Amino acid sequence: MLFRKHEILPVRTIGDPVLAEIARPVERVDDSIRELAAEMLLAMRAFDGIGIAAPQVGRSLRLIVFEVPPSDPPEGLTSGEALLLPRMPFVAVNPEIVAAAGELVEREEGCLSVPALYAPVIRPSRVIFRTMTLDGELIECECGGLLGRCIQHELDHLDGKLFTDRLAPNAARAAAGRIARLKRDGARRNYLRTKH
Ligand code: ZN
Repeated sequence: MLFRKHEILPVRTIGDPVLAEIARPVERVDDSIRELAAEMLLAMRAFDGIGIAAPQVGRSLRLIVFEVPPSDPPEGLTSGEALLLPRMPFVAVNPEIVAAAGELVEREEGCLSVPALYAPVIRPSRVIFRTMTLDGELIECECGGLLGRCIQHELDHLDGKLFTDRLAPNAARAAAGRIARLKRDGARRNYLRTKH
């Protein structure tokens, strides 16, 4: 009899076509979606991420999981951070950004699908975030800080975008060689980043 141990889902890396697709909405939350969310959380933790989107594990679905650490200082949190940070890890089903708010801010980002590359990305400091939970609760709140940043990054994945598509010209030039190499190396591994 074949013994099969539970394995961490591989993460798809830059160059994998699934990362460039527009993901489909989740039509209904059933056991397969709950299981997928649990597997995504395990993969995210195994690779030390704070967020992961379903396309990153090869599933073109509008589902994200994030686990953003508590913010310090806790004062001055947006209402969304106050609401969601105590609820980590958080699974968002069919999440949307309704509107952007605040000023544009530059912050360094990385991505499980772009190993070992970190570069500054300019995004709005706050967004109005709307999502369903796995339990069918509808949430709408304004999220700033690292949480707002994470939400914007993960939602990009659902629209086939990586943070490397948003680099300013200078940062893009600086990262071009690394990105080309990641794609080349990735192609040899079918764009699979595995953890054992
Ligand atoms: Zn990412």
